[in-house]
Amino acid sequence: MKNIKIKTKGKYEVVDITSEVEEQVKHLDEGIVIVYTPHATGAIILNENYDPNIGKDIVEALDKIIPEGKWMHDAVDDNGAAHIKAAIIGPSETVIVKEGKLQLGTWQNICFCDFDGPRERTIYVKVIKG
Ligand code: ZN
Repeated sequence: MKNIKIKTKGKYEVVDITSEVEEQVKHLDEGIVIVYTPHATGAIILNENYDPNIGKDIVEALDKIIPEGKWMHDAVDDNGAAHIKAAIIGPSETVIVKEGKLQLGTWQNICFCDFDGPRERTIYVKVIKG
């Protein structure tokens, strides 16, 4: 298993990690890769990154649906909205691998979402043959 470490810069950030994941599967003939983040205020998505505004739109849309500053957990460490966003989006994605290539669509990338940055974040990449 490989760890990817990233440092986010803003409170909200969507970081493309596709090339780091691809590096881990280049010798795999056929199988799957699980991309998982062990953080309660971060998430993994498969979506477009060709237009970086999509990441900003996702962050803004989630902020409209789940505004900050109105959750019981805010009394603990003021990040209730970040926990809810992370729970809805989810901590992992699974991608099929064939002949060393991620079987992503033309407009799909693998991205880490930070809802409570800036922080140092870890993503686990587990490659499974089969
Ligand atoms: Zn918290």
